[in-house]
Amino acid sequence: MNRALVLRILRTGDQYSRAEIAKLTGLQPATITNIINDFQKLGLVEEAGEIREGRGRNAICLRVNGDRLHFLGIRLSRKYYLVGRFGLDSREIIKKKKYIDTNCAPFDVLQSLIKECHELIDYDREHEVVAIGVAVPGPYVRKQNRIVMMTGFRDWQEVHIEEELRKEFQIKVYMEHDANVGALSYNWSLGANENRSLIYVAAGQGVGAGIIIGGELFIGTTGTSGEIGHMSIAYDGPLCQCGNRGCLEKYCSSMALTKSLNNKIREGNYTILKEGCSFEDISDAVKQSDRLAVEEYEKACEKLSIGVVNLINAFNPDTIVIGDEIAAVDPELLLKTVQRITEERVLPEILEGTEIIAGKEDNDEILRGAGILAINEMLPDFLSGKRSLPEPEV
Ligand SMILES: [Zn+2]
Repeated sequence: MNRALVLRILRTGDQYSRAEIAKLTGLQPATITNIINDFQKLGLVEEAGEIREGRGRNAICLRVNGDRLHFLGIRLSRKYYLVGRFGLDSREIIKKKKYIDTNCAPFDVLQSLIKECHELIDYDREHEVVAIGVAVPGPYVRKQNRIVMMTGFRDWQEVHIEEELRKEFQIKVYMEHDANVGALSYNWSLGANENRSLIYVAAGQGVGAGIIIGGELFIGTTGTSGEIGHMSIAYDGPLCQCGNRGCLEKYCSSMALTKSLNNKIREGNYTILKEGCSFEDISDAVKQSDRLAVEEYEKACEKLSIGVVNLINAFNPDTIVIGDEIAAVDPELLLKTVQRITEERVLPEILEGTEIIAGKEDNDEILRGAGILAINEMLPDFLSGKRSLPEPEV
């Protein structure tokens, strides 16, 4: 546990002296020295120059050796998949994006995905890829290792992604709900904190949430916690395929926004967009300040904000991150809208404890989170000696 704690502090990519690590972990300096010696022998940690540490004394800085182990991260979505190669410090080395033809059978998509994974592994043969993390749209039922109901993508139910990848690459494969790995990604970048309560809202083709409580992912009994896309914001609203009515994602997913805008076009509203426009077209139109596109986008952000209000009231988290496709369209407008609605609808005494962050325009946190999932799951095996590390580079 001490080893994991030290590595958790070092791995964020920052550099620390032994004294700083002792202070941050609360461990004895002698313990830190022993752990660091072990890590250096294993090649997990390296020295990175000196820093001044009070009274003119210099201390040696340490950092994780990001190239010691490499990992693959995969993000599978309804419209595309992303594959990335990451270092032990979660640094992205290379990534690829492929759009999925909606007529393509899931098995064929899987074969194309496997081919891309091979290419990424072959990209650098000097460093070993030791595990794969896969982010999938939910609801993802963990016990059965499969996706239960991927809105608009039902055939995937019969594909055992984890098993197929494990058979092909003969390394460990970990799967997780996409919103959950988005939460892992932000939990990593914000630094080690055992008291953190963070909710990552993935507002994309569906809407889901990853929930971090006490610094750890909360997954629920069947592993499907955070399915906020099926939380009702209108009890007599339209029927959803889950059985509920007025489900949040019916109002603010990228699919819902695309549908509502196309309806507006059909009704004859003026816009630069044409009937049959895609979410990507809409996103571009918002960036060009097309009035109808901005109006409809803002409405979707308002509905999403109602979901955020419910989350704040239910969990009182210290951080809420709103990410994925919807956030990437215009993070600034989204944040402004969420702040306005939460201020209107949440008690100030409750709201003041929560920092709300909008995701980034590059929308990369879920792919990176898939890489981090593999790092998080694999590393304890190496640290406890359950699995031996590959030979270090000479
Ligand atoms: Zn539903």
